[in-house]
Amino acid sequence: MADTQRVIIVGAGPVGLISAIRLSEAGIPTVLCEAGPGLPHDLRASTWHPPTLDMLQPYGLTDRLIEAGLISPTWQIRDHETSDRAVFDLSILSEETDHPYRLQCEQHKFGGFALDWLTRNGDTETRFSAKVTGVEQDADGVMATVEVDGEIEQLRGAYMIAADGAKSTVRDAVDLKLSGKTYPETTFLATTTFPFHDHLEGLSNVNYVWSKDGTFSLLRLPGVWRASLYPDEGETVEQALAPAAMEAKLQRIVATPEPYEVLEVRPYRIHQRIVENYRVGRILLAGDAAHLNSPSGGMGMNGGIHDAFCLTDLLIQVWRGADPGLLDRYVRQRRPIAEKQILAQADRNRARMQERDPERRRAHLAELQAIADDPVKAKGFLLRSSMIDGLRQAAAVT
Ligand SMILES: Cc1cc2nc3c(=O)[nH]c(=O)nc-3n(C[C@H](O)[C@H](O)[C@H](O)COP(=O)(O)OP(=O)(O)OC[C@H]3O[C@@H](n4cnc5c(N)ncnc54)[C@H](O)[C@@H]3O)c2cc1C
Repeated sequence: MADTQRVIIVGAGPVGLISAIRLSEAGIPTVLCEAGPGLPHDLRASTWHPPTLDMLQPYGLTDRLIEAGLISPTWQIRDHETSDRAVFDLSILSEETDHPYRLQCEQHKFGGFALDWLTRNGDTETRFSAKVTGVEQDADGVMATVEVDGEIEQLRGAYMIAADGAKSTVRDAVDLKLSGKTYPETTFLATTTFPFHDHLEGLSNVNYVWSKDGTFSLLRLPGVWRASLYPDEGETVEQALAPAAMEAKLQRIVATPEPYEVLEVRPYRIHQRIVENYRVGRILLAGDAAHLNSPSGGMGMNGGIHDAFCLTDLLIQVWRGADPGLLDRYVRQRRPIAEKQILAQADRNRARMQERDPERRRAHLAELQAIADDPVKAKGFLLRSSMIDGLRQAAAVT
């Protein structure tokens, strides 16, 4: 098949990889360009929501994630000092999904499984150290300028999926702005072997916690916990990153005579941003290239994978001859969900956990406990927080 028929996918994060799998399975040739020398391995997503696991099941990816992760039937919001908690039990969703739980598994493991799939199946040319530096399009197709080991190459294709993440080059090249805000705080994600579950009564694998010193979250992964921590009042990022300061923050969660074994600490800033359009002609944005949200609630990667499923469904039809205008449905279906569900929920989750006033915290917790204890309310709440509602709303848009 002529190169002009293929789809160029920029970025081998979860969104680019699953887009390649979906198109490849439909018999559409793709070239996947990744700027890095291999798959990204940085400390990022850990939570997989039920509908994402349902979607990945036919590719054998869900089974691999489950094998490599931790099934988490509940998650909770708790008060550190009193251990009072609102525990949300996802088994209430068992009639809505084949996977009524959150799965805790590192994002980079998914990358490995997806690349395995691409190596064994389909027609994807995966190119590492291939940084897209410019894009152009005309009535017949798209062209990417790619820098490979200092050499410049031009690739032609019929369409392009920009899955090149928060700093998307493609987004800049088509002059789209990622509008919104950056939150003031820096968060530190510290991975430790310390077994919090042996010390804090009734923990789930995902815990969002208020404490007298502020807030933190504890996320369990196979063999380790990740703690999301914040600088203390008046502490700079550099000061907070010092091993002694990190140790002090962890000791405040559970005091132990032995120092914590900390495997990795990653500081990051969080944003609430979205582009005004996901489509410019033959170029389509998906995942972090199109929208960014607080990781509170674990929705960024999941939402990006949902983008990829919606987009590839439509792109397969267009590639086979349907009217290219069909691609606007992708924008109509996914952009409002990102803005009104994902970004808005993540913003509320973050604001709730940043609350410092003890009275308001108590009121939030009482309200959440009332929801968790009422099966009808709990189901409604979990359908939203597990991203099932958003997908159903998107599917109803024509
Ligand atoms: C600390 C943290 C925790 C998180 N936890 C969760 C969670 O639990 N659940 C959840 O759903 N989400 C979570 N997220 C969000 C999630 O990590 C992102 O939403 C997800 O990585 C987006 O995937 P993507 O494929 O769109 O982009 P990315 O994963 O950023 O991948 C983009 C890829 O494009 C490549 N690239 C960039 N520019 C170019 C170029 N010019 N040419 C070629 N390649 C290029 C990059 O090297 C990269 O490999 C978390 C994020 C952070 C920071």
